Parts: sequence; C-alpha cells; structure tokens
Amino acid sequence: MRRRDFLISSAAVLATACSRPQEPGPGGQDGGQRFQWKMVTSWPPNFPGLGTGAAELARMISRASGGRLTVRIYAAGELVPAFEVFDAVSRGTAEMGHTAAYYWKGKAEAAPFFCTMPFGFNAQEMNAWLYHGGGLELWRELYAPFGLVPFPAGNTGMQMAGWFKREIRSIEDLRGLKMRIPGLGGEVMARLGVVPVNLPGGEIFTAMQTGAIDACEWVGPYNDLAFGFHRVAKYYYYPGWQEPGPTLECIVNKKAYESLPEDLQELIAACCAAVNDRMLADYTAQNRIALKTLIEEHGVELRPLPEEVLAALRQASEEVIGESARRDAMSAKVRESMHAFREAVAAWHRISERAHYELRG
Ligand code: CA
Repeated sequence: MRRRDFLISSAAVLATACSRPQEPGPGGQDGGQRFQWKMVTSWPPNFPGLGTGAAELARMISRASGGRLTVRIYAAGELVPAFEVFDAVSRGTAEMGHTAAYYWKGKAEAAPFFCTMPFGFNAQEMNAWLYHGGGLELWRELYAPFGLVPFPAGNTGMQMAGWFKREIRSIEDLRGLKMRIPGLGGEVMARLGVVPVNLPGGEIFTAMQTGAIDACEWVGPYNDLAFGFHRVAKYYYYPGWQEPGPTLECIVNKKAYESLPEDLQELIAACCAAVNDRMLADYTAQNRIALKTLIEEHGVELRPLPEEVLAALRQASEEVIGESARRDAMSAKVRESMHAFREAVAAWHRISERAHYELRG
C-alpha cells in the first residue's frame, strides 16, 4: 500500500470510529459488533430465586440486545468458587458476576452495607436509598478501585432469623452455637457468644447434617424449603433482623463495561433494574406457599426470637456498625448516609406501610 492510500484509509477508519456514537442500533456501526460475556455467580445451578434471577438477567440481556451482547451464566464452582466472584470479575476472568456485597468485607470494609444492614432497610427502602438517596453513587465509589461497576440486581425481601436444632428461650441458649451466618449479622451474633461461620449456600445442608454447625440462616421459606433444612432442624425462627431486605448485586468489569456502546451499557442497567424488581416479586409469591408447606406438611415449629434476644442483637448491631465506622472512613460515610435516610423514611413508613399492615393484619 502506498503511503497516500494508507493515510486515506486511516482517515476513513477514524471517521468511522468517530461516527459510532451517532449511529447506534442494528443499522449502524455498532450493530455489527458482538460481545460474548461470562457471568459468574455465587449460587448453586438454577437455584430458585437467586440462581434463576441471575439466569433471567443473562437471558434478558442476550435477547433484548438482539444477540449483540450474549451472556453465558456459570453457577458457583463451574468457573470460579462462590466466594471468588468479586476477584474473578475484578481481574476480568469473567466480565460480569451475580452475587451479594456482604461477602466482600475482606476486600472493602464498607461492602456489606450495600447488601443489607441489621435492623436496617426493607427492600422498598433499600431501593429508595440506592436509586434516590445517594446509595448507588457511594457503592460505585467503593468499587471503583477494584475496576468494578455495581448494579442492584435482585432482592429476597425480609429473611428469616434461621434454623436451630434446639429451642432458643434466652441469650444463654445461643452461647457456643456454631451458626452459618455471614456479613454483619455474623459479627453481631459473635457478640452474643455464637461462633459465626460463613459457608456458600450449597454447603450448608451437609454442615447441618454432619453436625459441623448447629444452626444456620440462609434466606426464607422459598429457598430454605428447597435446601431441605426442615430435615436437619426443627425450629424455624423469625424475624430476619440480620437481613431485612438484602440487595443482590450484578458487578461488571469496568473495562469491559466501557468497551460497550452506550445503548448496551444502558441495556445492562435496565435489565438489572427489571431483575431487581422481579426477584422480589418471585420471593413474595413463593414464600407464601413455601411457609405453608413447611408448617403443614413438614411440621416445622415456627418461633419468634425472644424479646431479650432481639434487644441484645439490636444493641450489638449498633456496636458492630459503630466500630466499623470508627475503623474505616468509607464505612462512616455510608453509615451516616443510611442513618439519615432511615430516620426520615421510618417516619414516613410508620404512618403509611406500618399503619396499613396493622390495620389489615
Ligand atoms: Ca441470609
């Protein structure tokens, strides 16, 4: 190629590149560009709610993009183990991950707040804080040094306090119990003498069955019935003080995200928002059926945690969260944002949602 021709073709390539943002869609330059992504998850294959929600996200992105961005999903352990999702997406082994922020405290002290806070927001309030209360901006700031862009992508709604082999009548009954409970909830339980253990969902049943642990919390009736915890523990406690409305996260590798045209970036955000909403609806619809099955067909003993236990858990939660804020500037910033939002939203929900629940029963 002569130098003059080379310059002309280079200029043409440059013009094409510059025109890209103006010509998105199937007919434009970006229409021909295809992306094949991997999504690693912390969930067992096709696990109800969490796994099926992640699969729905992958399918939705692939179909809504007309195949321009196809996402292949991997269950925990298929490409990376459940608790290596954050690192795998950060280093680009996979472009995308579906998991929960409270598994990443070891990476970033403030991470658990973006999943749930003990005695904190319910799902509706969590979404309000993330989308309209500055929460998502703080989350993006926290994950930026890891090269990750987070999106809220699911919520289980209110969880259960968990499964116990023996009845819990007092704080004394908790002492020395080995319990699967991750995140801030685990740290709080430790203050009451419990030995908290973190295990991926897929390993909890065996640990309960072999006696490696005495108690566990996972999610709620829908998911707990699927794992069969009623076969290894009789007492099922509420309320899920530790996770009143946990957000699941979709994390995207920042470089991969920035390599996408704007319409596909927007598509990821829209699909995550859709799944965020649909997953909560799925849990609400399925929990109602599963709770009935657990009680009526499996004879599960449903119990509220004693008031003295809940009061002690509440006190310990404030201590744990306060200490985290003193240790870490970002945790202090997030806690302050959440607390200010909670105070105002609680005043509103006291006379709206709560008044309605009390009225309706
Ligand atoms: Ca849980």
